[in-house]
Amino acid sequence: GADENLIFERRESAVRSYCRQFDSVFDTAEGSVVRDVAGREYLDFVAGAGSLNYGHNDPDMRDALIAHLEHHGMSHSLDLSSSTKSAFLTAFESLVLLPRELDYRVQFTGPTGANAVEAALKLARKVTGRTNVVAFTNAFHGVSLGALAATGNRHHRVGPQLPLPGVTRMPYDGYQGAGIDTADLLARMLGDPSSGLDAPAAILLETVQGEGGLNVASAGWLRRIAELARSSGALLVVDDVQAGCGRTGTFFSFEPYGIAPDLVVLSKSISGYGLPMALLLIRPEYDVWQPGEHNGTFRGNGHAFVTAQVALTKFWAGTDFTTDVARRADLLAIRLAEVADAVPGAVVKGRGMMRGVDVGSGELASAISRRCFADGLMLETAGPHDQVVKVLAPLTTPDELLNHGLDILLAATRTVAA
Ligand code: PMP
Repeated sequence: GADENLIFERRESAVRSYCRQFDSVFDTAEGSVVRDVAGREYLDFVAGAGSLNYGHNDPDMRDALIAHLEHHGMSHSLDLSSSTKSAFLTAFESLVLLPRELDYRVQFTGPTGANAVEAALKLARKVTGRTNVVAFTNAFHGVSLGALAATGNRHHRVGPQLPLPGVTRMPYDGYQGAGIDTADLLARMLGDPSSGLDAPAAILLETVQGEGGLNVASAGWLRRIAELARSSGALLVVDDVQAGCGRTGTFFSFEPYGIAPDLVVLSKSISGYGLPMALLLIRPEYDVWQPGEHNGTFRGNGHAFVTAQVALTKFWAGTDFTTDVARRADLLAIRLAEVADAVPGAVVKGRGMMRGVDVGSGELASAISRRCFADGLMLETAGPHDQVVKVLAPLTTPDELLNHGLDILLAATRTVAA
């Protein structure tokens, strides 16, 4: 890949990040395996930062896409009604919303997660007539200015200069292991006229913080935060960009907790094929947009509608997929406990197929990730100090490959930590 790398060095902005960690030029991919131009194979446990929950190049999605291309199906149609959008919405209604007794209007926003977060923040302000938003420490919501204001990690925020307006950051559940009841703290702040938190437009949260280090909110905390949103007249906004689409074991990450968010943000794996697509789900009474009030050119990618519809039909029509994912999640938890045992003080974090190991330092985590790459496994790090080795394998990874990747991780961790 050295020759191919020259053009990137000469022409591409220094802002790139993954290329530094994974120093190859990648070419083809299938399922959980990617290949570089030299023909080397890697297990991909980054999975497009959670946008490839069903792996690379799913054959059924690819066939549907090829058929759509040969049919001269529209690739792009602004927000016109199209046959592909209709098929997607029908599948989303019948396979996602109705079985879960959820009632949401679907807004197709600009194609990235951050676009849908922006729409959520703006709509919450419009619905409530308020401006402030409560977000949490270690949250990640995207890098456009509104989403960035709600993002915790300082690394992303230094450029635009702190502070970005409009967001109050409160401690997330389990904050720094300090034994603070942060839902109680929020309740007190909301009731304190001197806190500036008396009337927020929205409370925005991830049920499992992905970029923030696989921090898991407890059921009790989530229920109390939902209740605080209700009692304070704020909209509860769940950002399921990374934790959604089955990553934690259920389609929506909040399903096990019996909370009903007012707004839900979905992106990443919703198209199923790594094609850009983002949705804001809106409780019908809050769908107060005027036509054209919040638009944007790319609100309807015909190819993404096609693959998304196949993804929903293929994986979410029965219970086989969730059973498989639950089994793999158990396997992952058991194997990661072995990895944690190799490093003094390390702990397993996360939920479902969204897990990792906090190894205590960013240097150690990145040394493990580098070693894994040399041995044929791609892994990211996460957390405020990048101290969490993150495993985001495609949910479809066969048990054998999952075990193989975790063997590599375990050996790398033992070598690096020794
Ligand atoms: N929210 C969450 C929870 C995310 O993990 C991400 C992306 N990592 C985003 C929002 C932003 O999505 P995008 O990068 O597509 O703008």
